[in-house]
Amino acid sequence: MAKHIFITGGVVSSLGKGLTSAAIGALLERHGLTIRMQKFDPYLNVDPGTMNPFQHGEVYVTEDGAETDLDLGHYERFTDSVVTRDSNYTSGGIYETVISRERRGEYLGATIQVIPHITDEIKAAVAKIASDDVDVVITEIGGTVGDIEGEPFLEAIRQFRHNVGRTNVLYVHLTLVPYLKAAGEIKTKPTQHSVGRLMEKGIQPDIIICRTEKPLSKSVREKISLFCNVPLEAVIEELDVQTSIYELPLVFRNQKLDELVLNYLGLQPGSPDIADWQSAVDIIKNPDGVVDVAVVGKYISLQDSYKSIYEALTHGGIANRVKVAIHRVESEDIEKDGPEKVLSGMNALLVPGGFGIRGTRGKIDAIRYARESGLPFFGICLGLQCAVIEFAQNVLAFKRANSLEFDSATPTPVITLMDEQRNVVDMGGTMRLGAYPCSLAADSLAAVAYGAGNVSERHRHRYEFNNAYREAYTNRGFIFSGLSPDGKLVEIIELKDHPWFLAVQFHPEFKSKPLAPHPLFASFVAAALKKRKEE
Ligand code: GLN
Repeated sequence: MAKHIFITGGVVSSLGKGLTSAAIGALLERHGLTIRMQKFDPYLNVDPGTMNPFQHGEVYVTEDGAETDLDLGHYERFTDSVVTRDSNYTSGGIYETVISRERRGEYLGATIQVIPHITDEIKAAVAKIASDDVDVVITEIGGTVGDIEGEPFLEAIRQFRHNVGRTNVLYVHLTLVPYLKAAGEIKTKPTQHSVGRLMEKGIQPDIIICRTEKPLSKSVREKISLFCNVPLEAVIEELDVQTSIYELPLVFRNQKLDELVLNYLGLQPGSPDIADWQSAVDIIKNPDGVVDVAVVGKYISLQDSYKSIYEALTHGGIANRVKVAIHRVESEDIEKDGPEKVLSGMNALLVPGGFGIRGTRGKIDAIRYARESGLPFFGICLGLQCAVIEFAQNVLAFKRANSLEFDSATPTPVITLMDEQRNVVDMGGTMRLGAYPCSLAADSLAAVAYGAGNVSERHRHRYEFNNAYREAYTNRGFIFSGLSPDGKLVEIIELKDHPWFLAVQFHPEFKSKPLAPHPLFASFVAAALKKRKEE
């Protein structure tokens, strides 16, 4: 039977529960265990797919096409666990299931209530991923202990331990231990209160992980241990001054957190080897050089809106032993100041995905600059579509060329709505989502970078290249180097006679890992490095 770890957060949000969970997962895998990871989000949206990046940050897409929380990106980057649509549930999703069942009459006339119906559904979602081949399921509860909307989840995980037995469940609580400058002291009281709130719900945490600015002294640890009722060695420090998030498994391993967890759950330790993590972290800390990459987007002020892209660029840096200095550029600034001002000092340009017309002019102008000046360019999803529009307007002289998403009256819709999207009414979960195969043209930049002829990548879009214009493009040096196996959908474009100009309709960033950098990101950073050396 699978063992379970539930991770809750206290005091404030944004403590990095997702990273903490992922780092624990990474360590457990090193002991030879098969793990699964899962997150519950207490908000009422059925999934984050329809949410604005200002609300939510990046929407992370799984292989099977679920639009999920960005913490699942951390799970996949840190571990080899299988992440699917069963790996992320919101309150909205849980309620939707229960209410549709009620509408179908499946409750046979019963009164439907939060307890037991919603809590049962939550427990069923946990049990669902605990298949026979799984040793440990790690379930992160989003939000902060004390939130009203999180209560059914806490009740469900309390019951879960009651149902499956004490020795099969471990509760980990991540909390903030603030340093008060005025007092010159680290304060444990918020942690005590947070654990108090958890205990009101019947949950005694077994391990307390403390996010802190300053190292925890022995006496602070002893205080937390005594007042929160956990052994001293179960008070773990998570200092927030780390160069890289990828250090976290090493930080936990140094404090023997993995052994503590295994011990609690009655699992045999393996002989963990984390040398590969160590060497990735060493490269991040002591790179051989640096490259400057501009990311021109729309939600640039938000740390989390292009999370996986920033991580994938870092991984591309690891592959080339350099630091990628990411310059986040608001596309509307390019509209104001022109591309030259921002991009002339850069070694490469990346234009990420997006929706809606705002900011597309700046992206198109940036791409023109990269195309004309030989600056390496990587376009992703909307970035590909903007590259296609730019080429139409400036090379093919289709002055009003556009995407139907931005101009429904354009005489030259070089980007058009996909056929399967024409009758779509609901906005949630209806894009072309998840993994699809792609065939690569022999000897193309893409084929060389991947070192393969066929690949599979994840998608999230409604629009695509309009095939009516293929010939016009190829005549002027465009290469359609990646197509769906039936040849109908354009997945990758390249430009002849340019050092590195490549754009993809899919999202390669979702499959990049620090220990397995995505080939396109590795190749892109290599091109940026070459550009830098030439200057
Ligand atoms: N808005 C574009 C589309 O729907 C691009 C989507 C994206 O960049 N993820 O096709």
